[in-house]
Amino acid sequence: MGKHASKRGKAQPPGTGEDERPHGKHRKSRDETPSMIDTLHLSLKRVHKLLDAYRVEHGKGFRLKHYDPGDTAGRILGKPDANALLAEGVHVLADLQEKLYAQDRWAMLCVFQAMDAAGKDGTIKHVMSGVNPQGVRVTSFKAPGPEELAHDFLWRTERALPPRGHIGIFNRSHYEEVLVVRVHPDLLERQHLPPELTGKHVWRNRLDSIAAFETHLAHQGTVVLKFFLNVSKEEQRRRFLARLDEPGKHWKFSASDLAERAFWDDYQSAYEEAIAATASPHAPWFVVPADNKWFTRLVVVAAMIEALARLDLTLPPLTPEQEGALAAARAALAAEG
Ligand code: ATP
Ligand code: MG
Repeated sequence: MGKHASKRGKAQPPGTGEDERPHGKHRKSRDETPSMIDTLHLSLKRVHKLLDAYRVEHGKGFRLKHYDPGDTAGRILGKPDANALLAEGVHVLADLQEKLYAQDRWAMLCVFQAMDAAGKDGTIKHVMSGVNPQGVRVTSFKAPGPEELAHDFLWRTERALPPRGHIGIFNRSHYEEVLVVRVHPDLLERQHLPPELTGKHVWRNRLDSIAAFETHLAHQGTVVLKFFLNVSKEEQRRRFLARLDEPGKHWKFSASDLAERAFWDDYQSAYEEAIAATASPHAPWFVVPADNKWFTRLVVVAAMIEALARLDLTLPPLTPEQEGALAAARAALAAEG
């Protein structure tokens, strides 16, 4: 535990304990001169404030239609300014991740869900671009295979969870079990569940399981953030057309994307219900405007920084024995020269 952490007691994950602080509050480490994080924190202050507009911690009354996919925080941020902030944000995230790794206490899980072409891949690529790959694992969840189908639906999720000190990124996730599987009931049939368990309560039961699972993760020291990249149907149409028009983007287009687009409204209701049922202070959803990629990325990086900054990560202090060993090593190397 770090010097200042020991004075205050143990840090808590968001929403799980006594040490709750208001969002966006970052404490300057007393054992550090103003660091890049402090500098960035000042400039990101505005963005942290903006996060409140997209963060969902309580599902009651949640309606997707209240969230504008084209929102770019209006006149508050200009695009050039935002790009500079994103570059800074990527740096700071890298710095925080190094501390997360060195401290080896907390883990962070970031779930990305969206309709096709909302920009999941690009967001993950940009936001994580500065981070040491050794501390991150990205898992892309596709349609389950026979072994996965033979287990409960969280089985494969658990196996992909980040260990302490790591950031886990889920490109799609356990939420597909209440989204695509709900929109296409034949997928549920393939799961070979006892028929009495697949009645109308199945979705409520799954949402309860997910909420309980995420509470468990929070109690075990995993900070859970969930991002719904909220793209509009019209912007999806434009992006699909761009993929068709540009040979270099053909590989990104699949005929099944168009088939899923036909179920747009069903997906929107399934997302709405899933977000409402699983939003909590310890596993918040961010409904991120996704019609403008630069803004999507900025909101995501800001949310990740905010969550890590709340942990007050510090490098582990050295024991007197370790300090002695360092001094001895220094002396030995110096004597060689
Ligand atoms: P991209 O299209 O950008 O490569 P993607 O996430 O859409 O990214 P795809 O390979 O196109 O990747 O699609 C993966 C598919 O797997 C999606 O259609 C998704 O709904 C499906 N899938 C993921 N999890 C499950 C699940 N538990 N049950 C059924 N289908 C699933
Ligand atoms: Mg796809």
